[in-house]
Amino acid sequence: MTGVMEISVTRTNNSRLASTKLENIPFGSVYTDHMLEARYEDGEWKTVEIKPYQAISMQPSMAALHYGQAIFEGIKAYRNDKGDAFIFRPYDNFKRFNQSAARMNMPEVPEEIFIDGMKQLISIDKDWIPAMKDHSLYIRPVMFASDEALGVRPSRTYRFFIILSPTGPYFVNPMRILVEQKYTRAAPGGVGFAKNAGNYGGSMLAATLAQKQGFDQVLWTDTIEHKWLQEVGMMNVFFVIDGKAVTPSLEEGTILEGVTRDSVIKGLNEMGVAVDERRIHIDEIVDAYKTGKITEVFGTGTAAVIAPVKELSYNGFSMTFDPEQYKISPAVKQWLGDIREARSADNHGWMVQVP
Ligand SMILES: *Cc1c(COP(=O)(O)O)cnc(C)c1O
Repeated sequence: MTGVMEISVTRTNNSRLASTKLENIPFGSVYTDHMLEARYEDGEWKTVEIKPYQAISMQPSMAALHYGQAIFEGIKAYRNDKGDAFIFRPYDNFKRFNQSAARMNMPEVPEEIFIDGMKQLISIDKDWIPAMKDHSLYIRPVMFASDEALGVRPSRTYRFFIILSPTGPYFVNPMRILVEQKYTRAAPGGVGFAKNAGNYGGSMLAATLAQKQGFDQVLWTDTIEHKWLQEVGMMNVFFVIDGKAVTPSLEEGTILEGVTRDSVIKGLNEMGVAVDERRIHIDEIVDAYKTGKITEVFGTGTAAVIAPVKELSYNGFSMTFDPEQYKISPAVKQWLGDIREARSADNHGWMVQVP
């Protein structure tokens, strides 16, 4: 991008806001009046526009549909009593988006488009942010390969969008989880640390098969031994053992570095709960269960924030937990909610104001 970036703005004269009830909207089912679109061609980001939310047109030969260069992000924004809007940790998602882009051989998106464009878009659709407890505006940036060609090579053109979706509380029933012994989500050297569409596509069969057996999701294990714990569904996983929290470490590149994961680690530290990031073997979990040392198991992610686990099933051995007795995970969820919904001070500089 050369010089100062111009974002052209076309406003709708047909706002749907007045006819939309913002309370308790199910996740990802309603979109705001506007969207942002940027196009990459000839080695640079060219047109950037904010325009009415609308369908996109494409040829059936569009590269992303065939060869899967597609990445995305998930972020939330909040509105306080005074009507000011804040985005939660968008720079962390910006950094991760460009790490995903690099891994998928896609161009980086500049800050002027990802962050400044996002702020401007939200500013236009600010009144769509539900200002109720546990409500937020879900922000979905996405980039995909847009060449209309079937030759196998990195695309030369890309399209980047940001769409916004108001959302109510994401209630998750405590989950029954199957420790997956056949399929894997990510392998060392692969794309597990990137937030690319294919990771989701590749995970759905295992989840569906687990659901047929009465589970809600799977706990992914490593590719080689099926012993080392990875993530629970598409969330990071935490265990509380002997009063200490433990979560899988990131160095193998098979785990998505969750912003919620990082926020929860910082919250636990502030609450005086030690957190260990390291490799976790399933036998350690089974042993700790048998000696009564595991008190909590939960997943973390932007959509649900914290999702409690009530059962882990490993090779026919069922380990059950009682989320009603959980203390640490509800406390850290509250801690995070208080910062995001402005009930307590943001000492970490996590809330980025929308002008
Ligand atoms: C997005 C995602 C997460 C959670 O990341 P957050 O930044 O906390 O939303 C965890 N695992 C996978 C595989 C993901 O795609």
